[in-house]
Amino acid sequence: MSTERIYLDWNATAKLLPEARDALLEGLDLAGNPSSVHREGRAARAAIEKARRQVAELVGADPAHVVFTAGATEAANTVLTPDFRMGRSPVRLGGLYVSAIEHPAVHEGGRFPADMRTEIPVSSDGVVRLDALEDLLRRHDADAGLPMVAIMLANSETGILQPVAEAAKIVHAHGGLLVVDAVQAVGRIPVSLEALEADFLIVSAHKIGGPKGAGALVSRGETLMPTPLIRGGGHEKGHRSGTENIPGIAGFGAAAAFAASDLSERNARIAALRDRLEAGMRTAAPDVIIHGDSGDRVPNTTAFTLPGLKAETGQIAFDLEGIALSAGSACSSGKVGESHVLKAMGRDPRLGALRISLGWDTTEADIDRAIAAFAKIAGRRKQAGAAA
Ligand code: PLP
Repeated sequence: MSTERIYLDWNATAKLLPEARDALLEGLDLAGNPSSVHREGRAARAAIEKARRQVAELVGADPAHVVFTAGATEAANTVLTPDFRMGRSPVRLGGLYVSAIEHPAVHEGGRFPADMRTEIPVSSDGVVRLDALEDLLRRHDADAGLPMVAIMLANSETGILQPVAEAAKIVHAHGGLLVVDAVQAVGRIPVSLEALEADFLIVSAHKIGGPKGAGALVSRGETLMPTPLIRGGGHEKGHRSGTENIPGIAGFGAAAAFAASDLSERNARIAALRDRLEAGMRTAAPDVIIHGDSGDRVPNTTAFTLPGLKAETGQIAFDLEGIALSAGSACSSGKVGESHVLKAMGRDPRLGALRISLGWDTTEADIDRAIAAFAKIAGRRKQAGAAA
């Protein structure tokens, strides 16, 4: 068997694209400060503005409404705050409603205190319950301020797509603001801020082949904006101070341009690979549970549980077979916690789930090796069960 490693953990982070690497290196060599008016400064500014257009294009937004941050977590902490501004006037929001399956970057609620946060439940299919959202917003105390709702577009663990456009209608009917974490959706499905009618979108560079540590908060307008998380020199029109990370931003722009191009062809290929993988897994272990397979998912993600095999053990077994994948919600420390996503779906979170996520350089041969490894690991589990 080949000893070459196979990377199937693209939802954790994608490989750096050659285009992004080139843009990043060019950005490193730009000597000027983008706030300076001299030629060097203007060259640095031009690199940032090019990236702003590329990111805006990817999410169907106006470049003027893209605020660069140091990743999606920072963008989330920027926008999830009760303290907004309309021009110079403060506007206080009245509460945050956050889906039960959000990534911790959003689930933690940013700058909203705990007593202002409410969870929106999901169905057993892993889809946010719009009836529950409607009900929560009907009971929202409007005197306390506008409600803010946060629902992700694609779940990071299962890939399950969320009914964001429908949620936007409900949120707006109640005078609220909708924040959409599109981190796992961009580059996997077409995303348009306008079409979704979201008020804010959060994106991250490293999930689409850009460098780690760059992201953006994209807004539909500029009338109502969060008070900045990072204050100082007033960069990014006052929304995020600090000299811009030119290489990171330039790399992000190049990755966004790649993600927007040939999306349907690339994803049709990836969806076919994922189908091949799931068919192979089902043949090798008919009792495998594939989470969210009955609904709409991004084309690159498979989350599964093999009865009798703990996800942590499975992850190590795959690693020994040369395959990198994820086990449930890998925390920053690298330890595996019980998946709050499985729990929210009413599934037993104790065994956890393994996640295989594909990217643009995944090949049929990679998938066939993953299936072979899966069959071996599933077979061992059966033998251990029979011996016990
Ligand atoms: N939101 C989702 C859905 C994610 O998958 C991640 C990354 O794991 C984040 C937010 C955080 O992104 P970043 O690493 O850019 O802070």
